Amino acid sequence: MAGEHGDAQLIDGKAVAAELRERIATAVSELKSSHGLAPGLAVVLVGEDPASQVYVRNKARQTSAAGMQSFEHRLDAQTSQADLLDLINRLNGDPNVHGILVQLPLPAHINSQLVLNSVDPAKDVDGFHPVNVGRLSTGEAALVPCTPLGCTILAKSAQPDLTGAEAVIIGRSNIVGKPVAQLLLRENCTVTIAHSRTRNLADVARRADLLIAAVGRPEMVKGDWVKPGAIVIDVGINRIDVDGSDRTKLVGDVDFAEASRVAGAITPVPGGVGPMTIACLLRNTVQAAAAARGIAMPEI
Ligand code: NAD
Repeated sequence: MAGEHGDAQLIDGKAVAAELRERIATAVSELKSSHGLAPGLAVVLVGEDPASQVYVRNKARQTSAAGMQSFEHRLDAQTSQADLLDLINRLNGDPNVHGILVQLPLPAHINSQLVLNSVDPAKDVDGFHPVNVGRLSTGEAALVPCTPLGCTILAKSAQPDLTGAEAVIIGRSNIVGKPVAQLLLRENCTVTIAHSRTRNLADVARRADLLIAAVGRPEMVKGDWVKPGAIVIDVGINRIDVDGSDRTKLVGDVDFAEASRVAGAITPVPGGVGPMTIACLLRNTVQAAAAARGIAMPEI
């Protein structure tokens, strides 16, 4: 809509994700017809967290829509850690399962890191296993975390060659900030990771040709934090109250109205990074399936 996002190009995550899913479906049909291989993704959900239930449902639907096999394992909230580890062990050994995703958060009585570390690194389509974290940082072939991969694909949709760009990432989590930094190093960016203890955060952010916000604080990044013409990727998903009503809405970590007047390109929330995450999960599952059979695949 003209005027609503200033002069900035709107980076349409829904459209980019739909194109990626199309390429995935083509790769899946090729794997089936040439190799008799149907990539399979197992999703494990423990407990009844409503947001997690929505994610798991969407993952299953999109997995099937791409022509892949979807296996869902729903366990009740009281499931013991030993039983969960036992299930993961069985999935590790199941030749029809090429990707395993354990939906986070897990209930408090379960040690999440221990569970994630028990997933076979070759099936770790979330890219959270220390083996894949290590491979990403040394530049070896790795399964790469989905949301960071989505951020990189979106940034490259606005500027295909990021070589030499000053990238500033706000947030240093293991699931977003740190892996995004590694991916942008691979793209030859000069990378700064800012976080809750960074001094003069606005000044640091203003250095960025590519600014990635992954904090979890509604509309924290203001228009005057953005260098004119910068690419802004907003990972935040925050639900806030709508003033003067009993409704709520989703906003990102970036003040979109302000930032879009300054940025060269910007992702909206919703409809930016969010749709990319599941598409990247499917991509990782296809790659894991091909690798399990020793099939060389072109980059999807
Ligand atoms: P996290 O809580 O694990 O990490 C937040 C990071 O922000 C920390 O590293 C912290 O140092 C930094 N931080 C906190 N307060 C700050 C401040 N005042 N100034 C600067 N830095 C500050 O969060 P996360 O898991 O990385 O997620 C971040 C956001 O991204 C959340 O809104 C989350 O919902 C969203 N998210 C979206 C997707 C998706 O789109 N699919 C996936 C994962 C996370």
